[in-house]
Amino acid sequence: MVESLEYFFQSLIQVKGVGDKFFQGLRRLLPNTRFKDILFHFPVDVIDRSYTSQIMDAEVGRVVTLKVDVLKHIPAPYIRGRKIPYKVLCSDDSGFITLNFFNAGNYLLKSMPVGAKLCISGKIEDFDGGRCMNHPDYIVPVNQFEKIAGLEPVYPLTYAITNKMIRNVVDVVLNNLPRVPEWQNDANISFTDSLKIIHRPIKNMDIVKEAKRRIAYDEILANQLVLAISRNKFKTESGAKIIPSGEFIEPFVKSFGYELTGAQKRVLSEVMTDLKSENRMLRLLQGDVGSGKTIIAMIALLATVESGGQGAFMVPTEILAQQHFETFTKLLDKSGLSDKVRIILLTGKDKGKIKTEKLSLLENGLANIVIGTHAIFQEKVKFKNLLLSVIDEQHKFGVHQRLSLTNKNSENKCNILTMTATPIPRTLAMTSFGDMDLSIIDEMPPNRKEVETKVMNMNKIDELIPSIEGQINLGILKKLYWVCPLVEESEKIDLSDAISRYEFLKTVFGDSVALIHGKMKSDEKDEIMQEFANPNGKIKILVATTVIEVGVNVPEATLMIIEHSERFGLSSLHQLRGRIGRGADKSICILLHSSKMTLVAKERLAVMKETTDGFKIAEKDLKLRGAGDILGVRQSGLVDFKIASLEDDYDLFLAASQDVKNIISIDMKNNTERWQNLKYLLQLFEYTGQIKNMKA
Ligand code: ADP
Ligand code: MG
Repeated sequence: MVESLEYFFQSLIQVKGVGDKFFQGLRRLLPNTRFKDILFHFPVDVIDRSYTSQIMDAEVGRVVTLKVDVLKHIPAPYIRGRKIPYKVLCSDDSGFITLNFFNAGNYLLKSMPVGAKLCISGKIEDFDGGRCMNHPDYIVPVNQFEKIAGLEPVYPLTYAITNKMIRNVVDVVLNNLPRVPEWQNDANISFTDSLKIIHRPIKNMDIVKEAKRRIAYDEILANQLVLAISRNKFKTESGAKIIPSGEFIEPFVKSFGYELTGAQKRVLSEVMTDLKSENRMLRLLQGDVGSGKTIIAMIALLATVESGGQGAFMVPTEILAQQHFETFTKLLDKSGLSDKVRIILLTGKDKGKIKTEKLSLLENGLANIVIGTHAIFQEKVKFKNLLLSVIDEQHKFGVHQRLSLTNKNSENKCNILTMTATPIPRTLAMTSFGDMDLSIIDEMPPNRKEVETKVMNMNKIDELIPSIEGQINLGILKKLYWVCPLVEESEKIDLSDAISRYEFLKTVFGDSVALIHGKMKSDEKDEIMQEFANPNGKIKILVATTVIEVGVNVPEATLMIIEHSERFGLSSLHQLRGRIGRGADKSICILLHSSKMTLVAKERLAVMKETTDGFKIAEKDLKLRGAGDILGVRQSGLVDFKIASLEDDYDLFLAASQDVKNIISIDMKNNTERWQNLKYLLQLFEYTGQIKNMKA
């Protein structure tokens, strides 16, 4: 480590005035207890103490800094049940001021001896025409007047730590800041000056803001750069080059009976370019529910098979695996490929002999493609030549699961395509999945019927039921979903909601109602789902918790009722609604809500009514919820910025992503001075582990 870097990593215990007790407090307050940690502990507010005046001229109610003479101490008399303050009477040329101290001891005699000239600062109040101040914030010798009468930073605090203590430590640390190289291209304020301005705020708040934005950019830049470096490394690592012949893909695509949309074609060519290149693919395919991602995945898998490799298609639920397997099988049949391409289904349900058989098919390369659930991650599952892994709904799987798949190819050559239907705003995608390339399907297949959305009070259920009954009897309504929320914290209560709704609907609709929820065995779920998906099946009404959220395709379902829709997040509502509007008939989504609703909940429902555009919904979601909540990325620690905020520094994230591209292609390549300086930045933000991956 460079000498000046070491400065930032010294322990705060070394600072004069930091004793054991103070240090323990700092441990609670800061993520770590080194110089850099307190430097990045920014003030949350600023108190203006620059207002100075004579006692009687001071504006009442305002924070003022005064020079006073101590005249007299009036200790608090002890009166049972009454709180009388210890008073210190002071004056200046204009008049008198009483300083009130509750629960104060005799130490005041020491710090404010009669006859002393002092500087005090605090809020001045009216007191029977005279002036008083309760517990002045500062009582210091008058020679410190200049120091006090300015802007005071206000820090987040914890038990046993005062603002003054923090200020003192920060002061010492700031006084000896080393020279630091400049890693930014167009910064107006240097790193060290920025820290000084932030901790010793000045009147010009624009400059303070600029200083904060500079440090925020440093934090973002370090993060984005590290992600880009690791992506670079992943991609340049022994890539599996795929050379598709077109033998399978061409008849396969012809069998669809529809043209790919422009967006699908673009995304497909991005994927194919990756596959054909010598670099490994690590790509996130993002597209709204029903935008046609699955087809793209299937084409990519076939390209892999054409070139002699195997492919794996991972999905989060068994129902979905089953469905993809059937779709894929049908399409292969239709295109005359069923004896050339062998696909198998592998889920947790596979046991014993059947499982052993399937595993050996994969291991000796007789099966070309496997579609399945988490089961594919198991160690026992081996491939002959796995060249492509597709992971659907990728946020449902962890990062190490993703990595464990790549390791199933002994030479680390496996390409990875992940897919998500959760529309992630671009900035968020960049920060949480910044190590991946991004492809977006931003166009829906033609002839999609928009789903109409109605927002209704729960008390309208009584009118709703007969209307549903009528439509079912007339044959207009074939299938419908009835969703009851399941919030994790109170799973039991919500489940009872779903059950009692189910019981109630049974009294009206009899056997045509079924219940499905996450606590059920997967066999049971599959059976019900299959019966519901079957156009001639007896189940017409499916009461469900959010288990249906992901992927299920039942085109005959044209109505969805969501109870307590005010409890769902926007992205869940959007995903749920995506289950309908998949057939030729018009679909309706009814959002039932209780009378008690927060403003935010109201706004969410209004958004749902207004648009079906997943990206618009996601942007709105970002505004309403704050970035960290989306996808639970905050929990996963993916978005872990201390200084920068996705909401306030949106533009900085965009700028950094461009900056990083240039850094990788120019500075890193040519080992420029900026690149050297950037390494300092990475170490400062403790991305030291990743530095090993860097070339220069
Ligand atoms: P996603 O996985 O993105 O949610 P799917 O791939 O399941 O979407 O596609 C949803 C439906 O749209 C499927 O029934 C699929 O056959 C159909 N589809 C996909 N692409 C097109 C297209 N270009 N034109 C018409 N229909 C399409
Ligand atoms: Mg899908």
